[in-house]
Amino acid sequence: AKQQHRGSSQYFSSAMGVDARERFKLLKGLRASFEEKRLFVVYQPQVDLPTGRPIAAEALLRWRTAEGQFVPPDQFIPLAEQSGLIVSIGEFVLRSSLHQLRRLLDQGHSDFRIAVNISMAQFRHPEFITTLCSALADAGVSGNSLELEITESMAMEDIDMVLRVLAEIRNTGATVAIDDFGTGFSSLSQLRQLQVERLKIDRAFVREAQNSSAGSTIAQMVVNLGCGLGMRVIAEGIETEEQRQQLLALGCHEGQGYLFARPMPAEDLERWLMEKRP
Ligand code: C2E
Ligand code: CA
Ligand code: CA
Ligand code: CA
Repeated sequence: AKQQHRGSSQYFSSAMGVDARERFKLLKGLRASFEEKRLFVVYQPQVDLPTGRPIAAEALLRWRTAEGQFVPPDQFIPLAEQSGLIVSIGEFVLRSSLHQLRRLLDQGHSDFRIAVNISMAQFRHPEFITTLCSALADAGVSGNSLELEITESMAMEDIDMVLRVLAEIRNTGATVAIDDFGTGFSSLSQLRQLQVERLKIDRAFVREAQNSSAGSTIAQMVVNLGCGLGMRVIAEGIETEEQRQQLLALGCHEGQGYLFARPMPAEDLERWLMEKRP
């Protein structure tokens, strides 16, 4: 229906009009901001749950408009995905993250990783692996210190294509995490076929684990599944010490969340890591 209305005068006055016009404006603003270099990357640490030792950081995109307002990624990433703009924005995130990774390795954080979110439009793009290799080479880092996060729903979409791209990713040395795990409908045999290194328990189950037994059952199942398949399991959105204890008791290996650190600019991450170093 969206396609039908496009370009017609009906477009803005349709029932969906206000919403569509808002989104169109937002996308226009996003494009301009990208060109004006108003997009930047922040980093949120991931820690070893038993010891609290920093092991990695997830790169998260931020957009500050010319007026100084922050637009949340949940609002603009879907637009960037629908419009295809995510391919170039995603490359920018990848290159920024790898450049930052190079700095961290030079500062002596030799087994530290950076995790980068990859959208389906990037992942299935014919140039994706070429871009990945060139970004690694330009930053002077090996794939071993890079992790790519793909969502569970993405991983299950077109399994043949996904397996082919995953094999090429593996050739670069990069690892893969399945993000938002527990929200999709993975088949066990498909999950096993993917041979990814890490499962990421969605924040929703970390939150629910505390007050509902259904929530903790899902968290427990993800941990058991990951462990059974030889994967590492990380929980996102850990905000309280109780949640950390609970996930630890379930056998979860790693964690990420406000309890440990908020997403922060690159300079702050460097300082944070220096302070944490034994
Ligand atoms: P995600 O990949 O699931 O990222 C985790 C989100 O949880 C981040 O939100 C992070 O700031 C937030 N978070 C982390 N710890 C906590 C916590 O303890 N409590 C709460 N309440 N939230 C926590 P953010 O940065 O707003 O990003 C939202 C989503 O936007 C991401 O979800 C991801 O799907 C997407 N996104 C962000 N950056 C990129 C990017 O560079 N590329 C792509 N494709 N997607 C991105
Ligand atoms: Ca993620
Ligand atoms: Ca996630
Ligand atoms: Ca999520």
